[in-house]
Amino acid sequence: MAIVESLRCRECGRTFPVEALHVCDFCFGPLEVAYDYDAIAASISKASIAKGPPTIWRYVDLLPTATPSSIDLGAGFTPLVRAERLAAELGLGELYLKDDTRNPTGSFKDRVVSVALSKARELGFKVAACASTGNLANSVAAHAARAGMASIVFIPTDLERVKIATTAVFGGRLVAVKGNYDDVNRLCAELASEHTDWAFVNVNVRPYYSEGSKTLAFEVAEQLGWTVPDHVVVPIASGSQLTKIRKGFRELDLVGLVHEGDSVRISGAQADGCSPVTTAFEQGADHIVPVRPNTIAKSLAIGNPADGWYALEAVRSTGGALEKATDAEILEGIRLLARTEGIFAETAGGVTIACLAKLAQRGIVRKDERVVAYITGNGLKTVEALGDTAGPTDTIAATLEGFASTGYESFAEKARTR
Ligand SMILES: *Cc1c(COP(=O)(O)O)cnc(C)c1O
Ligand SMILES: [Zn+2]
Repeated sequence: MAIVESLRCRECGRTFPVEALHVCDFCFGPLEVAYDYDAIAASISKASIAKGPPTIWRYVDLLPTATPSSIDLGAGFTPLVRAERLAAELGLGELYLKDDTRNPTGSFKDRVVSVALSKARELGFKVAACASTGNLANSVAAHAARAGMASIVFIPTDLERVKIATTAVFGGRLVAVKGNYDDVNRLCAELASEHTDWAFVNVNVRPYYSEGSKTLAFEVAEQLGWTVPDHVVVPIASGSQLTKIRKGFRELDLVGLVHEGDSVRISGAQADGCSPVTTAFEQGADHIVPVRPNTIAKSLAIGNPADGWYALEAVRSTGGALEKATDAEILEGIRLLARTEGIFAETAGGVTIACLAKLAQRGIVRKDERVVAYITGNGLKTVEALGDTAGPTDTIAATLEGFASTGYESFAEKARTR
């Protein structure tokens, strides 16, 4: 049972009851879940966690909801894979990939949605809603179906076709809005104040939603034998995930499960066509100027990121850095990851790998560090981004002569001498 004290304003520290609230009515700061860490420390242990299910719910003591109410499609506890071939290409040493392509609906969003809807149901909501760049809609529709809740999700019209189909199949309402994500989000903020009986996972129950991302830190620490990495690289859309990965490592330290949870360096990755946080970092600015997104990394296309400032602060205060990747670099990142490690990531993963490569080149991510890169979404959802570049290497007549024309002998020779 989680020991949740209150919701607390990140700006002024005022506390609020554990309800569907997300902004401080005093200073308009965002609210965050506050726990009684001493009480959690007294009950949590590595052994109690090991006895839990192979999902995010093994960390229920550090989540804002109770196990019996959890809506569980099996999100989380995804593989942490050592990436020796990719590390060699990038000139890095001990590199790991957190393979979140393997979640139930193919992205890390299953973590946040599983927590948000579990809490929403606990609070009595019967309708799940969200503003989405695609993966969130997909996950909300799936988890709502699983929970027997109604769902109504809002997406920009220009989404990848697979993300539309894999959302629609779950049978909820899927509303395509003529505009970009920031337009969708603005509309949903208005709708949320009108339809107070809808749980908008990233609006009125956002404090609970964002807690789900902490499991990305919990799992990595457990998978590294209850130690923390030196440096992590995290993609940024709203910035929530990056901020909560930091909170996750710190909490493990606070409850006595790891040492130096506060020393993890955090670097961020954005698409060049939507990089407001990276720009603020490069300019040494202390506020974020919204942009109009134009990138193939649609899942990261948030021009006015709600947690952008907190992500920037987390990167700065941990000694990390921020990078950005062009569309061409994103595609190269996807291919590099696929050809070296056998993992097919969506465009967001291409952003992470391309930015990791640049950070390594700049000497910011170092060879003597133990590094984790978060691969947050599955490539099957953004196949169209690869365009014509992912076709057959040869097309031949169904004859031996046809095959001979491919020059396969030099290929076979290369494979032998590898
Ligand atoms: C939403 C998303 C992100 C970023 O999440 P934020 O918490 O909004 O920064 C990263 N990768 C993928 C695949 C996503 O869908
Ligand atoms: Zn406040």
